Amino acid sequence: MNVLVINAGSSSLKYQLMNPETGDVSAKGLCERIYIDGRLTHKVGDNKIVKDIPMPSHSEAISAVLNILVDPVDGVIKSVDEIDAVGHRVLHGGMEFSDSCIVDDSVIAAIKKCIPLGPLHNPANLMGIEACQAVMPKTPQVAVFDTAFHMTMPPKAYRYAIPTEYYENDDIRRYGFHGTSHKYVAKRTAELVGKKEFKMINCHLGNGSSLCAIKDGKCQDTSMGLSPLAGVPMGTRSGDIDACVVQFICNKYGMSVDECLNMLNKKSGVLALSGVSSDFRDLEAGEANGDENCVLALQKFFYEVAKYIGSYAAALNGVDVITFTAGVGENGPSTRAAICSYLEFMGVKLDPEANNCRGKERLISAPDSKVQVWVVPTNEELMIAQDTAELVNAAK
Ligand code: AMP
Repeated sequence: MNVLVINAGSSSLKYQLMNPETGDVSAKGLCERIYIDGRLTHKVGDNKIVKDIPMPSHSEAISAVLNILVDPVDGVIKSVDEIDAVGHRVLHGGMEFSDSCIVDDSVIAAIKKCIPLGPLHNPANLMGIEACQAVMPKTPQVAVFDTAFHMTMPPKAYRYAIPTEYYENDDIRRYGFHGTSHKYVAKRTAELVGKKEFKMINCHLGNGSSLCAIKDGKCQDTSMGLSPLAGVPMGTRSGDIDACVVQFICNKYGMSVDECLNMLNKKSGVLALSGVSSDFRDLEAGEANGDENCVLALQKFFYEVAKYIGSYAAALNGVDVITFTAGVGENGPSTRAAICSYLEFMGVKLDPEANNCRGKERLISAPDSKVQVWVVPTNEELMIAQDTAELVNAAK
């Protein structure tokens, strides 16, 4: 089976053509500068092709992707009919979606209804879906939501302690994000530890970071909230912050709430604390050169991640497995060691040699650790392809 996985942003579109059973990727690439001019980067194995192709909308971007996939020289399939289904990443499923689903008119309408909750991403995700429907009308399309995995949270985790009318009238609650990644890592970890019923905390640490408390494969709590701004400090996001900070800054500097939120989303986090970069490799280089601001940025990040792990261990009333994933979680041995050093009271003990790895699936805790600690590289595209295949096969 061939599944085309699409992740459409406002001016870009990533794609992978993959086999959901084996995870083999036959081709992948990126359309950039949609609405501006248009550039396609297409990779087959180690072979990379870059082409400037006019992309006045997402439709032309999708057409460019399909054209290159069937190209006699650079393509990997003979005809578009060889694509059995398309899986789309959709940011916000609101309270409408607790699982992936096959796209029909009612699903499109429900994704539109969630635009106020995901104003930056949902319109772009919809454009990706509608562009595919237009050029390949007979191919089933599946929507995979970043929020869906978190819909098993109990009310005590997802409700905010604010007047009920905002929940009842406006759907204001914790939703959480990175759900496709948390779901993939939860599923993979169950295979690795060889059981289904256990308590785990997954740390998705990348440019955006979120933690997820998972029991028996189901999300119990997660650190992001109504939006991805909440939780631990990130590359450029502040993470959790007292709402009065917004009031103070808006009043003192005559900023609008939107301007202030833009600052909290794009100019805060470890970028703001270090004054150097949002990239953890730059922070580690700064730390090695004795830059105190880089040291503070890293220490703040480790501290807040460790605090979330501690609180989720309490929320789950124990924890069997801690997993690290995403750019920093997979590639940062010193980050993992610094975070786990806070957790010695829980009997967490790393094996320093095993932890000295990057991008590899590996058990990194010592044999006598009370909690297993794993690095599990995430694969959101494979999760999207597997959900897509499962739904399309079930509908046959
Ligand atoms: P992601 O958002 O998952 O792509 O992760 C991006 C983050 O991963 C950036 O902050 C990178 O600095 C970080 N990252 C990638 N490779 C490494 C590495 N080898 N060591 C430390 N951080 C890394």
